[in-house]
Amino acid sequence: MFKKILIANRGEIACRVAATARRMAIRTVAVYSDADAHAKHVDACDEAVHIGGSAPKESYLQWERIIAAAQATGAEAIHPGYGFLSENEAFAAACAQAGLVFIGPPASAIQAMGLKAEAKQLMEKAGVPLVPGYHGADQDPALLQREADRIGYPVLIKASAGGGGKGMRAVEQGADFQAALASCQREARNSFGDEAVLVEKYVTRPRHIEIQVFGDTQGNCVYLFERDCSVQRRHQKVLEEAPAPGMTEAMRKRMGEAAVAAARAVNYVGAGTVEFIVEQRGAEMNFFFMEMNTRLQVEHPVTEAITGLDLVEWQLRVAAGEPLPLKQEQLRIQGHAIEARICAENPDNNFLPATGTLHVYRKPPATAFQRGPVRIDDGVREGDAISPYYDSMIAKLIVHGATREEALARLDEALAATHIAGLATNVQFLRYVVKSKSFAQADLDTALIPREQAVLFNQQPVGFELAAAAAVARTLLDEQALAGDDPFSRRAGWRSHGEGVRLFEFEFGGTHTKAALRYLHDGALVLAVNGARSMPLAFRATGDAIELQSGGGRTRAVVYTLGETDHVFTQAGAAQIVSIDLLAHAGDHAAEGGRLTAPMPGKVVSFSVKAGDKVSKGQALAVMEAMKMEHTIAAPADGTVAELLYAPGDQVAEGAELLKLSA
Ligand code: ADP
Ligand code: ADP
Ligand code: MG
Repeated sequence: MFKKILIANRGEIACRVAATARRMAIRTVAVYSDADAHAKHVDACDEAVHIGGSAPKESYLQWERIIAAAQATGAEAIHPGYGFLSENEAFAAACAQAGLVFIGPPASAIQAMGLKAEAKQLMEKAGVPLVPGYHGADQDPALLQREADRIGYPVLIKASAGGGGKGMRAVEQGADFQAALASCQREARNSFGDEAVLVEKYVTRPRHIEIQVFGDTQGNCVYLFERDCSVQRRHQKVLEEAPAPGMTEAMRKRMGEAAVAAARAVNYVGAGTVEFIVEQRGAEMNFFFMEMNTRLQVEHPVTEAITGLDLVEWQLRVAAGEPLPLKQEQLRIQGHAIEARICAENPDNNFLPATGTLHVYRKPPATAFQRGPVRIDDGVREGDAISPYYDSMIAKLIVHGATREEALARLDEALAATHIAGLATNVQFLRYVVKSKSFAQADLDTALIPREQAVLFNQQPVGFELAAAAAVARTLLDEQALAGDDPFSRRAGWRSHGEGVRLFEFEFGGTHTKAALRYLHDGALVLAVNGARSMPLAFRATGDAIELQSGGGRTRAVVYTLGETDHVFTQAGAAQIVSIDLLAHAGDHAAEGGRLTAPMPGKVVSFSVKAGDKVSKGQALAVMEAMKMEHTIAAPADGTVAELLYAPGDQVAEGAELLKLSA
């Protein structure tokens, strides 16, 4: 076995590979870009080598530098993870030339499967079922149109070099074909530097079912069963599970054997995935080859959960020349596993990716990289940034249960305990998907999200009354803690005797609202929200959480305060409520660190000072808006405003200096 390997990747997959290497007493070398100098994956490895600038082109795709780093550190092999160089046959060949083992398939297999059109030609010869379509070399637009007409609409035009859901256009009718072709070619040229396309019958309401395969250098090849990845947005996976609901033993065997035939056709070695599109006709399911991904897949943990195996360990053993640890007949499925991809994105805004800082990142109790009820694979820590340079995945949450129902319940519970604040995420959206009728009943196909859209988007899981009660409770608890229980230093409204009223103003769900807190003689509290009904409010702190009793119910809420925004997490879901505190405490938080810089990319809303103004420590200087939140920038110390560097309305990058202060 290797003594030392280099991991040519970042984020969760670099951490995940490092964990298995550590368990196997293999030393690890990380590589990192400027943006990743303090990243988790650097800490996860024994050594680290800086390889360049933040953009992937300047670092993680710089394969000469990566090979040089492996040689300089004495690593014997390189694990490419997924993405980046993992499916780059030139890199695989360069590793071999440099005397390094590429932990992946031979360069020839990567090449054979690299272009979807060529791969389909090969699969046709190997007898693997294909989606009806055209995958020839002749790219004459008129010929492509004739082929589309022959196949019958709707058709799907796909960039042959495509990946990650990019470079695909569905065409409903012949009249739209040429425009869609031109736009697909443009995207393909820009993203992949190759405009060749293929045309396929567009399967309606299909399922995406893929087979994990593994080959070794002795000529053995097995399948580790299937994963259903039908729940997708923009042709990208959102939830993945294994086994596939409704899969029969006979179909599993047929698909498994077809996948092994596909792998054998290219002399495959290592971990690979053969993706099939499955057409559903009543109870009948027809599967067709779509593509082979010649690498470890993002969703490999669900296969690990149901087989009890460590696929990275298998990759390392195979790369070191060992035979596959198990034979086909020794492989078993146990229970059911589901993976949810937690991403920095805004589902209500067409899944627009978000960047920013993970000011709050709390996870459910879990065991990482092991089979267990809850597993979390991530490459970030609280306080880390999700930068615009890399993809938006924050973490993968993987649950395992005896049955699908058990796994589903566990997933919802784990998602509810995943608290992220500081940027937009899809956590709440994932919970809605998990609870949707289609997903709960395993009525799976790639149209699940659009079909269930009424219950997935623009929902408000926590009402204003509850959010306001939680925000008020948080404020009072914080004040109490600050005051050290000294009744005389309590803030307005805390009375040692007599009744008093304290007013709060909030921004919630885009509307400005008010709440009045009344202190009764006996110390009890009553909260009137929006001038409507009053309800008794009682609460106490329990660890991180607040137990709230307001109105009719008892709720456990965890509230994190970031700037003026309270992020409220309850069993039902999360909400944000912005306090408009009339007792000017603006800026306590934004002043942290004493920087007069933008905490994240966003827009300058206003300046409350001008050049020449004398300011005192803690005074609010400017307000920024980012990720639909306002952030107050406050003076870190007493001083004089020297210069304003932007004007209201300006877009600013993260870290941009907004104004200059002189002592
Ligand atoms: P899957 O393994 O599920 O098939 P995708 O095909 O969507 O996943 O892509 C695999 C992953 O590789 C993506 O989630 C993305 O993080 C990463 N990736 C792909 N291409 C790049 C790239 N050029 N730069 C950075 N990351 C990439
Ligand atoms: P990528 O390389 O981007 O992963 P794939 O060929 O694997 O591209 O297709 C991605 C997704 O697009 C599939 O998971 C499926 O949801 C959808 N898709 C692909 N081919 C078809 C088809 N012929 N009919 C309907 N949907 C398809
Ligand atoms: Mg694919």
